[in-house]
Amino acid sequence: MKVELRNLTKIFPSRNKKSGEEVVAVNDFTFTIPDGKLVGLLGPSGCGKSTTLYMISGLQKPSSGQIFFGEEDVTELSPENRGVGLVFQNYALYPHLTVKQNILFPLQNLKGADKLTKDEMLEKAEYAAKLVQIDELMDRKPSELSGGQQQRVAIARALVKMPRVLLLDEPLSNLDARLRLQTREEIRRIQKETGITTVFVTHDQEEAMSISDMIVVMKLGVLQQIGKPQDIYDDPTNLFVAKFLGTPPINVFSGRVEGGKLYIGEDAVLDVPAIEDKNVTVGVRPEGFIPDENGAFTCLLSNIEVMGRDMSIVCKNEASLNPIVRAIVNSDIKVDYSKVNVKFALKPHKVFIFDAETEERIYF
Ligand code: ATP
Repeated sequence: MKVELRNLTKIFPSRNKKSGEEVVAVNDFTFTIPDGKLVGLLGPSGCGKSTTLYMISGLQKPSSGQIFFGEEDVTELSPENRGVGLVFQNYALYPHLTVKQNILFPLQNLKGADKLTKDEMLEKAEYAAKLVQIDELMDRKPSELSGGQQQRVAIARALVKMPRVLLLDEPLSNLDARLRLQTREEIRRIQKETGITTVFVTHDQEEAMSISDMIVVMKLGVLQQIGKPQDIYDDPTNLFVAKFLGTPPINVFSGRVEGGKLYIGEDAVLDVPAIEDKNVTVGVRPEGFIPDENGAFTCLLSNIEVMGRDMSIVCKNEASLNPIVRAIVNSDIKVDYSKVNVKFALKPHKVFIFDAETEERIYF
């Protein structure tokens, strides 16, 4: 099911009557989630991710704008009538019911033509439980399950009606690191197996990048960029997006363009004939450095961390806006540890230039 947001806006009235300032939680979002895709809504706390998800679910009404499922305008439909499955961070299972009863629950409320027989309900519950691999645990209570298992039950409960759209709000937040990794792979598998269009909210860029077909990067209620994770990583539209995606993070420097050359400090690191003279901010991905005796960019070596296949060359540069500069190179490369300075050539496609004021990307 294709999901389309058209000029979607959510404004919350001020909680503080005196200041009277309202919060624009979601500001004029227009984008389309293609049928059968897994999409991550990504951004720092307060950027409007959950509000967007709740508007898609019908739990919150937009202040303006429309939501379409396929060709159907669902903006005015209640959550029950939208055909969505919702999974929350805290699982929200019924503690006094068994796993089976929890999964059956959404089916028991169906009315009219949708009403199911007991056998039909059981069959659907079994199918959903198998899909998330908890069919062995059907008679347990939630308190007798691990966090990962509880989250699977919550996903099974959301899937049992075979929703048109599956919505997950920070589904992995309550799990420890190992389970997070495992469960995110599970979500990917289940989504692929069912082909249900899925939207999930996260503030963890690695999580979003690893399993999403598409990510939507947001900041303070404003859509920053939407696309395939790798495309956004390779081609960020502004400094915020460049900084938000990537581990280790992008190295950021204050720089300037002068006479068609890009300078970081006194080092002319790239030819940029198309850019006029101005102050800029320069981002260099950690993998964008090539150790090179004749390289134009000089850094003061701090230390070298070898991590199997790769090594991090950690150094300092006065123009850096971060405390350290981190270059990641293949650990086969020989670096002279005794030297005070290391010199690098830069890979042009790993260097991004941003306007120093607006922080928007300047292409070269
Ligand atoms: P988090 O990752 O912390 O959950 P988020 O990106 O999901 O954040 P939202 O919960 O969508 O962000 O909130 C977006 C903005 O709207 C925030 O500034 C928040 O304080 C505000 N907000 C959310 N719900 C309400 C509400 N019911 N009343 C007033 N303001 C709200």
